[in-house]
Amino acid sequence: MTTLFDVPLDESVQVLKRVLPLMSKQQVPTIPQNYAVWYDYVTRRNEDLAEEIEHLIDRGNGFDPASCRTIYEKYFISELQSEVDGIQGAVREAVESVLAELGGLGEDINHFSEVLEKSGLSLQEDPTKEDLNRLVVELVRETTRTHTRSKEVEGSLHNMASELTELRAQVERLSKDSRTDALTRVANRRAFDESLKKMVKEVEVSGAPLSLILCDIDHFKIFNDTHGHLVGDQVLRFVAQEMEQCVKGRDMLARYGGEEFAILLPNTPLDGAMMLADSIRSIIEAQRIKNDKDETIDKVTISLGVAKYVSGEKLSDFVERADACLYASKANGRNQTTGENDLPKH
Ligand code: GH3
Ligand code: MG
Ligand code: MG
Repeated sequence: MTTLFDVPLDESVQVLKRVLPLMSKQQVPTIPQNYAVWYDYVTRRNEDLAEEIEHLIDRGNGFDPASCRTIYEKYFISELQSEVDGIQGAVREAVESVLAELGGLGEDINHFSEVLEKSGLSLQEDPTKEDLNRLVVELVRETTRTHTRSKEVEGSLHNMASELTELRAQVERLSKDSRTDALTRVANRRAFDESLKKMVKEVEVSGAPLSLILCDIDHFKIFNDTHGHLVGDQVLRFVAQEMEQCVKGRDMLARYGGEEFAILLPNTPLDGAMMLADSIRSIIEAQRIKNDKDETIDKVTISLGVAKYVSGEKLSDFVERADACLYASKANGRNQTTGENDLPKH
């Protein structure tokens, strides 16, 4: 399983040795935020970021604290956060405007009751015909005014209701985005972790089997190096799509890490999960994909590991068993599926 955190020490030291002189040459302070930006520039983990930095270096205006901050925020602070901030602001404004409207309506109603009270008092004082006329005119005017005001407030409450419906839709979309991998559009690691916890809770009650497939693309690094990162990305999307077509119902496919995918299979015993895993493997092996020049590129293969949850065990033990199986598939020559029963017993 390779994530950024698994980068070998010597590799990261090599990067460090390239990053520091560059930052120093551009007079960029080596605070963690700036280092994150320049690390990604040097390793080209993020092509857009790398191009932007290159462009800024070529421009030769240097990197002042504000531009360092802008780049950091652009690539490292989630866009979701700024959307969440936007929604929070909109909700606050909407609530404030309703409170203001209701406050205004309350004052009008108080005023109306005062008018009624006064009218009641003047009726007790043996009014003349003119007094009655004036009173009726005033009551009609006040009633119309209060009626108009309440119609206005009703209108704003109505608008507010549709605004809130819109905001709710935005929150739902955001919540979905935060659980979706942007490149492959399948669930991301966060969604996987949530589902794993939930499914384990369920099977602890129901006793139904729960299996897990972990999958890692073979020699993906060579693939990236040979064809470039963009074709690498295309391969990731291709593998995700193929896998997606093989899962159904409550099965949960997620991008687990860089070029690793996981499938949680509720109600599925180990042999069923093994069959599914190996059919995914052979489907992917049989396909050919093309690069942007319409040239067919080398076949993509994947290695898989399959484990079944054992009641009461730690989630990490469950995942590690699948990972050990995946590792065995790699060690035995790749492009194969290993189940936990195939692991040597100890
Ligand atoms: P193995 O068969 O042992 O799994 O070899 P490998 O080359 O697939 O494994 P390794 O862990 O050495 O390399 C994984 C590579 O995946 C390195 C990393 O640059 C690449 N990678 C990770 N995420 C992405 C991505 O989002 N896009 C692209 N194009 N490459 C990625
Ligand atoms: Mg890997
Ligand atoms: Mg790999």
